[in-house]
Amino acid sequence: DALHSQDWAWRARAKAVLPNGMYGHLSTQMLPEAYPQFFSRAEGAMIWDVDGVGYIDYMCAFGPNLFGYGDREIDDAYIAQLRVGDVMTGPSPHLVRLAEAMVDQVSHAEWALFCKNGTDATTAAVMAARAATGRRVILRAHGSYHGTSPWCTPVPAGTTEAERGHQIWFDYNDVESLRAAATEAGNDLAAIIGTPVNQHAFLKQQLPTADYARAARAICDASGAMLITDEVRSGFRVVADGIWDDLGAPPDLSAWGKAIANGHCISVVLGGARARYGIESVFVTGSFWFASAPMAAGLVVMERIKEGGYLKTITETGNRLRTGLDEVAARHGVGFEQSGPVTMPLMTFTDDPDFRAGFFWCAEMLKEGVYLHPWHNMFLNTAMTDEHIEITLKAADKAFAALNAARLTLGPNERLLAAAANR
Ligand code: PMP
Repeated sequence: DALHSQDWAWRARAKAVLPNGMYGHLSTQMLPEAYPQFFSRAEGAMIWDVDGVGYIDYMCAFGPNLFGYGDREIDDAYIAQLRVGDVMTGPSPHLVRLAEAMVDQVSHAEWALFCKNGTDATTAAVMAARAATGRRVILRAHGSYHGTSPWCTPVPAGTTEAERGHQIWFDYNDVESLRAAATEAGNDLAAIIGTPVNQHAFLKQQLPTADYARAARAICDASGAMLITDEVRSGFRVVADGIWDDLGAPPDLSAWGKAIANGHCISVVLGGARARYGIESVFVTGSFWFASAPMAAGLVVMERIKEGGYLKTITETGNRLRTGLDEVAARHGVGFEQSGPVTMPLMTFTDDPDFRAGFFWCAEMLKEGVYLHPWHNMFLNTAMTDEHIEITLKAADKAFAALNAARLTLGPNERLLAAAANR
């Protein structure tokens, strides 16, 4: 692959020194073969791979990019704080300022505990719920991802049954299933993690019904359990508040990360009065949790969230993209499905259980400079313009035509089969 010779050279070197040649969610192992693994640059809505090829990036680093890569004002605040004091023996007042800003912005929040990754926040929230209630059992929706700690990693290798214990699964948006799980937990119910939006990889995305969210709240009220929402991925991309606050089901604890400092490293547990004792009981901390530079970036982000215009921007962009793609797909007679909020879309094909059509179509889009994901939800950011959408729709026109010409010749998706076999 002459176009990606640098990328293949880096992959060859990586094979020797990185687990599996690359690890974690940024590995391209489960993407079409043409997807580059290594990137050199990002700006606004674009990324450039190590061979210098640019793409409109609909993955947004899997969520952290909300206001465009390299946003000048946000990064200037980060750099200025880096110059005067980042990781120190004590926190700077930015810790208090950012906590105040988040408590001001998110309805259910009365306090904030900052950490680094989403997993830190979901894990601390679960610990706080168990500490607050003195109970063990956590209810989780099937397919919801909450991070990589032993209690929640989707791959059980390296964990013990005990670490994964005291959890009961229910079906998302299914009040009966949720009630049955709560009954099974009985008086050992510590918390329900009510995933704000169901963003299960490989499946159509589901928005929560108000009935489901309120049933979770009611069960927690009746039983003394804590309601937790995991906003790590969805936070501030659908509403400028907690998604379930908006549905009349404010949680006791919520976990946030990814976009809250537009790509700078910080996450947070937010909570209300019922959970304060719990969060004050657990011991959670980290060498880098009090770094001030990401907090300086977070303060600028919170000003933008409060101002609110960003949400209109990404929603309008998302609507144009969704409507436009539906029109182009219909013109080509392709069974194309879009699910999830328009600002966090998933694009799949009907009758495509092994994603062979999705892989082919995404690889065609990549050739046109549009970086999509065939089975994981994508993200929009405020740096995306009408021009980016136009380019994307033109690319889709070509890619749907190519798919129609090739569809009957497409074989089973070897890369997904191989990845599945490796698990
Ligand atoms: N919860 C959700 C909903 C997520 O999407 C993620 C990250 N994809 C996490 C938790 C874990 O976050 P992190 O990877 O930052 O630990």
